Amino acid sequence: MANPSKKSPNLETVTTINDDGSHYVLHPADVRGKFTVMRRLVAAVMLFVYVALPWIQINGNPAVFLDVAHRRFHLFGLTLAPQDLWVLFFLISGLGFTLFFVTSLLGRLWCGWACPYTIFLEHIFRRVERLIDGDAPARRKLAAAPWNFEKIWKRVLKHGIYILSAFLIAHIFLSYFVSLKSLYGYMRENPLAHFTPFAVAAFLTVVLYGCFAFFREQFCIIMCPYGRIQSVLTDDDTMIIGYDEKRGEPRGAKGKVEGDCIDCRRCVNVCPTGIDIRNGLQIECIGCSACVDACDEIMVKVGRPKGLVRYDSLNGLAGLKRRILRPRIFLYLGLAGLGTAALIGAVTQRARPYTWSVTRMQGPPYYTDGNAVRNHYQVLLINKRNQPATVTFDLVNPPAGFNLSGENEPLPMEPKSELERPAIIVCDYGNFTGPVELQLRATANPGNTTLLQTIRFIGPNPNSLK
Ligand code: SF4
Ligand code: SF4
Repeated sequence: MANPSKKSPNLETVTTINDDGSHYVLHPADVRGKFTVMRRLVAAVMLFVYVALPWIQINGNPAVFLDVAHRRFHLFGLTLAPQDLWVLFFLISGLGFTLFFVTSLLGRLWCGWACPYTIFLEHIFRRVERLIDGDAPARRKLAAAPWNFEKIWKRVLKHGIYILSAFLIAHIFLSYFVSLKSLYGYMRENPLAHFTPFAVAAFLTVVLYGCFAFFREQFCIIMCPYGRIQSVLTDDDTMIIGYDEKRGEPRGAKGKVEGDCIDCRRCVNVCPTGIDIRNGLQIECIGCSACVDACDEIMVKVGRPKGLVRYDSLNGLAGLKRRILRPRIFLYLGLAGLGTAALIGAVTQRARPYTWSVTRMQGPPYYTDGNAVRNHYQVLLINKRNQPATVTFDLVNPPAGFNLSGENEPLPMEPKSELERPAIIVCDYGNFTGPVELQLRATANPGNTTLLQTIRFIGPNPNSLK
């Protein structure tokens, strides 16, 4: 089988970087097979999810929405204000350890199957390229051809679609930060009227176009931090994509050698990161499974069993027993569970639709006015819902003589607004016997949410009041 690639991947160099540091452009061959079909289905679902999340409404807000304008983070019905951002620590650490767990068990499944970068690159940009420029040999030929009419119109069409796709992806990304209504408004009005979002969208479009049109797999190989930490997350029992050396070697033409590998290089030619999986597990491998389908297709053609290149562990490929349950699996699972449990606890306890803070007002710690002691507090209550609310304040079972000054009527609040007001607690001289702890209560509706805050009421020496 012809080898259209001029480079022979090895373990000493990165195939996609030339000796002078320039980018060696790959033209991965097309591949067919069951994993390719499954990956396309997963990609279609993931693409739908990426686009749909800002459109799906839960509790009146998008399912995932970092509302920059109102400083709120909406996550599947949960609304976090800046005061709740500590919850993100548990969310991110829980997700991080879940990813560690999955990686330790299943290798780079995320990279090859679900990562947005891989999905956009493989299932949009490379697909457009195949449609316009043709298969791998045709693309290679076109790249080497002089600038004739065919090359010019194909390049103009391809890059035009690339720019349009990058523009759309940039706006999908922005829809996670700017409401769809605002985004639509920005797109229809003069860009200079909303220069910041316009500049962000333009910058993102340029970056995405540059990445997907030119930089491509270099991002996974050189820049992605997740790719960099693979070697510490995996071990000899992690599922990877590997070549069965015992079965494949010695490689060579069918009938001339004993090994099953006929050295057709089909697995190399389909690889989107330009490696030869027969050299063993390499950091450039994103686990896309293209080489599995490619080799299976060859094995069927030469009448040998599939699976010369397959999903397996290093131990499995070496003919040893594979251990699924091992200490690091339990460790990552435990840490992921801890993060999730802490997140659930934090969310149910603190990240509620309303949050508040009560602080003592600046100035003297208390006031006396001839027959009463007063303590002044500052209340800040946040309505995180996307609907109006009312709130009332009172003291829970106050001792005799203690009162919350002011009206007890429900106070209205706008959707996603803050209410800042003083709370003045008064106690008659005769009832003040020294510092006492009181409970201030806010009751917010809708939702009948009760917020409690213990405050300390202080005053002068009671004897001096007699
Ligand atoms: S070696 Fe195989 S699984 Fe790894 S990136 Fe290349 S084609 Fe994909
Ligand atoms: S591993 Fe399979 S696809 Fe790769 S060169 Fe050998 S026979 Fe061909």
